[in-house]
Formats: sequence, structure tokens, C-alpha cells
Amino acid sequence: MSTPSSATQTPHLIRKKVIAGNWKMNKTAAEGVTLTKELLDEIGRETSVDVVICPPFTALASVGQALEGQAVKLGAQNMHPEKNGAFTGEISAEMLRTLYVTHVILGHSERRQYFGETDALVNKKVLAALANELRPSLCVGETLAEREGGKTLDVVRTQTEVALAGVKPEQLTSVIIAYEPVWAIGTGKVATTAQAQEVHAFIRSLLVSLYGAALAAKVRILYGGSMKPANAPELLAQPDIDGGLIGGASLESRSFVELVKAAKAAM
Ligand code: PEP
Repeated sequence: MSTPSSATQTPHLIRKKVIAGNWKMNKTAAEGVTLTKELLDEIGRETSVDVVICPPFTALASVGQALEGQAVKLGAQNMHPEKNGAFTGEISAEMLRTLYVTHVILGHSERRQYFGETDALVNKKVLAALANELRPSLCVGETLAEREGGKTLDVVRTQTEVALAGVKPEQLTSVIIAYEPVWAIGTGKVATTAQAQEVHAFIRSLLVSLYGAALAAKVRILYGGSMKPANAPELLAQPDIDGGLIGGASLESRSFVELVKAAKAAM
């Protein structure tokens, strides 16, 4: 019988699960505060799971205020890699830090698809986030055509390796990786647990080859793509699935709270 590698041994002991809500372009500042208060009533003191909510830029300040003194963390959905300058419409890491943002989603497939973000740009953003002590949630994942063409692992390898270029070993555990098959985002089509676990284990093996087993074992790899309370327990029970990046189900307190509870039960 083979011995499990250190990368997959007792994952719950070395990796706290993360549930992150990506509100996308939803919720005004006032609506965001209402949702935040509903969440805090239920999970404001939850410390066994890392909970992050990512409102649009316009709601960061007011949601951040509502989160003061609570365990739930604040994330942004994007940022520009430069410190400041002539980049109309953009927001820097430093600006996010002044709003008490601690996390930032980078390389989301909607940014790649609709705003032309390349792996090289995502890499610049990852490095800038880390330099400003923001924790990047780096999104990777294949399209349906890529999956059907047998290219899933190649695509994920390139996205991961390019985005992490220049990330120092001591910075790696600040990075969260989100595997989000593009065909499963907002479509109601969830990857099977076997499909998801296969890619998560592959990403961890990439991290082992880049940084060694001990560091790779500490990196949280989230699944994203139509995760809901009904399918979360099975996904979250997989050895390399350390949480979820949640779109649709994060817009309503009941489903998001249930997902946090599912992550806690899976620890
Ligand atoms: C997402 O956009 O990151 C996402 C996972 O969306 P959904 O949960 O709606 O599929």
C-alpha cells in the first residue's frame, strides 16, 4: 500500500478551509451592508473557517465598516498592478489597503474573457498584491472547448505557472488558488467531485514541483463553479479541495451561511 504524500496528508490539520463570496457586479453599498449584517448575525464569530466577502469597489468602504471587529474578511474583485498613475477607471493595491481590504480575486475568467486579461497581466497583479500584503485569490480554469479537447491540465498548468512566476517561497502561503472550470461558472453545471479533485491534485503537484512538498501542502485550493449547499459537502470532502469561491450562492445570506457551515463540517 502506498503512503500518502505530505501534500495530501491530514489536510484539515494544515489547511483551514476558506469560503469566499464573489458578489460580482451586484449589490449597491446599502444592499451590501444589509447582506453583510445578515451574514454577521450567523457567522460573524466563525473562526474555524476563513470567510471572505468580495463586494464591488463601490461597496468596499461601507461593507468594510460593517465588518469592523468581526472575523469575516473583506476582499476586492480586481486591482491594477501599478501603484498609481494614468489608468482611468482602475484601482491600486494601495487604495484597497486603505479600505481594510485583505484579499483580492485575480484572473477571474470573466476578467480574462471580457476584459482581455492575459496570464502575464495576472502575474503582475499577483506580484503587486503580495508586495502590498494583499492575499491574491488566483483563478485558473479551462473553457468547455479546452476540456473537450483534452487540454484541461495543460491550460491550468500554464495559467498557474505564469501567474506564480516570481512569487517567493515565503509569499506562497499568502496565495489562494481557485480552480474554476469556466463551463461551470454561473451555469448550474458543477464539475463532478472526481473532475474537481483531479485538477486540484494536479495543481498541488505543480506546487510541489515549483516549491516543494512542505509548502505545497499549506496552499489552499478552492473550487468555484456553481457551488451550492447541495453539492458542497461532497466537494469539500475531497482531500485537495480546501474551500469554495462562490458566485451566485453568495448573494443570499442563507445559502452563503450554509456553505460556511458545510466547510466547517468538512474540517
Ligand atoms: C465565480 O464567479 O467565481 C463563481 C464561482 O460563480 P458561480 O458560483 O455563480 O458559478
